[in-house]
Amino acid sequence: MLKRILSGPDNTKIITFFYFSLVIYAIAALVWWGLLLYQQNNQIMQLQQQMLELKQKNAMPFSTYLQEESLIAKEKRLHNFQYIGEGGTFLVIILLGAGFVFHAMRRQIRFGRQQQNFTAAVTHELKSPIAIIQLNLETLQKHTLDEEQRKKLYENNLSEISRLNQLCNNILLASQLDNRQYHLVKEKINLSELLKEMVKESSARMHQHIIKSDIPDEVMVTGDKFMLQIAVNNLLMNAAKYAPKQSTIHAGLLSSAHVAKIRIADEGEGIPAGEKERIFSRFYRIGNENTRKAKGTGLGLFLTKKIIEQHGGSIAVLDNTPKGSIFEITLPCIQG
Ligand code: ADP
Repeated sequence: MLKRILSGPDNTKIITFFYFSLVIYAIAALVWWGLLLYQQNNQIMQLQQQMLELKQKNAMPFSTYLQEESLIAKEKRLHNFQYIGEGGTFLVIILLGAGFVFHAMRRQIRFGRQQQNFTAAVTHELKSPIAIIQLNLETLQKHTLDEEQRKKLYENNLSEISRLNQLCNNILLASQLDNRQYHLVKEKINLSELLKEMVKESSARMHQHIIKSDIPDEVMVTGDKFMLQIAVNNLLMNAAKYAPKQSTIHAGLLSSAHVAKIRIADEGEGIPAGEKERIFSRFYRIGNENTRKAKGTGLGLFLTKKIIEQHGGSIAVLDNTPKGSIFEITLPCIQG
């Protein structure tokens, strides 16, 4: 029963309700404990005062009476300070602990939910290209088609295989990077050539977009070619996925004395300001209509960021004008 509540789809409200009930109970118990101690202290001090007054009636010198009375008052104040201090410390500890646990719990629930979405997305992402390729091949096998139709089916197959390949690479790499199994094979790379090659390949694959590039020659970096290809490819595929058909995707490379900047710009809906950090988290997908229409697993940008950071670089997303986003990778570069 408890397991079902914890893993259920709309469990956050129930868990939050139980959690806050417990926290409120703990605070109420603490306040109750404090009040009881305060009362007890007052009663003890009253008794001591009464005993002192009896002693005074039985011929206790007045100066001694005054001395003892001030001692009782001092002890009372001391005890009250002690209860307030201890109670206050416990209250702060309870509030800090509760805040910390609540934050961790919410993160865990969100992560669990994202993982469930991821599994559903991967299953769908794996099954749909396989079904499309199978259907295309059966059509090619059973029917006599003209050259144009055959070309279209082959192109469609190649694009689905490329999507499948990217998905497998992303999933495998994510787990390898997590287990620290993948070691970068760093070498001197001509980033200009690598980028030009990728733009050429993408233009051949992405017929529904216009791909333009502005890439100066001989920008050199040290890095893992395979990994950098995956990182940039994720950005190019996203640009094609989230920007409207027939819009322009721009791939640019800028270089200064110490850094190289790769920019992939599109004319899609762009990324809302509040999501610019979160899109790089594992399994994270923005919950808007644009994302729901496109297939995805929420792994691409997470991996891209990891790869770039392992190269000593950084990635950021900027707003394109008049609309769209610009993903900018900054890498340390070396002189040719
Ligand atoms: P996926 O594309 O598989 O969902 P990513 O990690 O590549 O996962 O991207 C995370 C989210 O960031 C996407 O779900 C999408 O909402 C958003 N996003 C990524 N690239 C773009 C883009 N070029 N334009 C608009 N939104 C984007």
